Amino acid sequence: MKLALFSTKPYDKKFFDAAREARQQTNIEVTYHEASLNDDTVALAEGADAVCVFVNDSVGSTVIDQLASHGIKAILLRCAGFNNVDLAAAEKHGIAVANVPSYSPEAVAEFAVALMQTLNRNTHRAYNRVREGNFALDGLLGRTLHGKTVGIVGTGKIGIATARIMKGFGCRVIAYDPFPSPAFKEIGEYKTLDELLPECDIISLHCPLTESTRHIANEENLSKMKDGAMLVNTSRGGLIDTTSVIKALKNKRLGGLALDVYEGEGSLFYSDHSGEIIDDDVLMRLTTFHNVLVCGHQAFFTVEALTEIADCTFRNIEEIVRDGTCRNLLTKRLELNSSPSLPVRNV
Ligand code: NAD
Repeated sequence: MKLALFSTKPYDKKFFDAAREARQQTNIEVTYHEASLNDDTVALAEGADAVCVFVNDSVGSTVIDQLASHGIKAILLRCAGFNNVDLAAAEKHGIAVANVPSYSPEAVAEFAVALMQTLNRNTHRAYNRVREGNFALDGLLGRTLHGKTVGIVGTGKIGIATARIMKGFGCRVIAYDPFPSPAFKEIGEYKTLDELLPECDIISLHCPLTESTRHIANEENLSKMKDGAMLVNTSRGGLIDTTSVIKALKNKRLGGLALDVYEGEGSLFYSDHSGEIIDDDVLMRLTTFHNVLVCGHQAFFTVEALTEIADCTFRNIEEIVRDGTCRNLLTKRLELNSSPSLPVRNV
């Protein structure tokens, strides 16, 4: 079994090599490609049986047509979100698609909370100031989170983990999800999105990117948020209409924005562009606000998560080879995806 792994970074190789070594006598051979998968690089998959991709690989129908012509039998996502893969095209060619649905929801939830805390208490600014010998507190004033209302949009694995942490901070936690979960009902109360928006001091997005959630943070919904509230997105960049969010920051309606993901991240994130002129004016505008924090899609990035991602990817391949299917198969959710009005559970 030959696996071509795209968008490889040194840490991917380290964790995949370790997971492969731990599975003694595995017959899975891994070829590492630094290039991301797209129409221009798909030829690199020739000779492989399966490809392994990450969040910014483009696995649309034209790439899938070419993967099929190279005899690819499976697409293994080493992440939970699968908005970058055309599942219907894969199904058409009989290519199995599987993801790693739950490598460490806590890793992402903890990072979401780290962003909230950093932005709220201005520790990012304090860090720079102190290094320059500036110990003044002006501009560092925060709010006590205890007693504040936090809104969770999407109460899946990560949303629930975030809700639990915020409950531990003494916050009142409310949520919106078209598929309510009994686990959340033990933590807080469900609301409609319209009810939730004006009540929250902090809103954290944890729903998948689908046609029904794209730009869920748009001008209309932003205008319904409480004055000065904070918006946090560790899910997918496309959930936020960045132009509207910039407007809301400029007119001071939005009090803070913490992003781990950005809708135009594909051409920038996961690489060093420090010696280049970055021509994304929208992202550059975002970075000029003192109350905006942008990170490069790193919420998943813990030792525990990378270990489980590599392990689970191997388990997925082994199951597909052995049984022709696997418990994390995504193509079986096509019926759900086919209804644009129905939000898809990203499980
Ligand atoms: P999950 O499938 O367990 O939960 C998603 C939840 O969103 C479900 O409860 C679903 O019912 C809900 N949902 C669907 N449509 C909705 C809508 N219109 N409004 C509100 N809720 C809706 O997924 P998860 O494991 O909790 O992951 C959530 C997202 O986090 C993933 O889709 C992925 O894009 C993102 N993610 C980001 C990172 C990172 O490093 N930043 C890492 C892992 C996952």
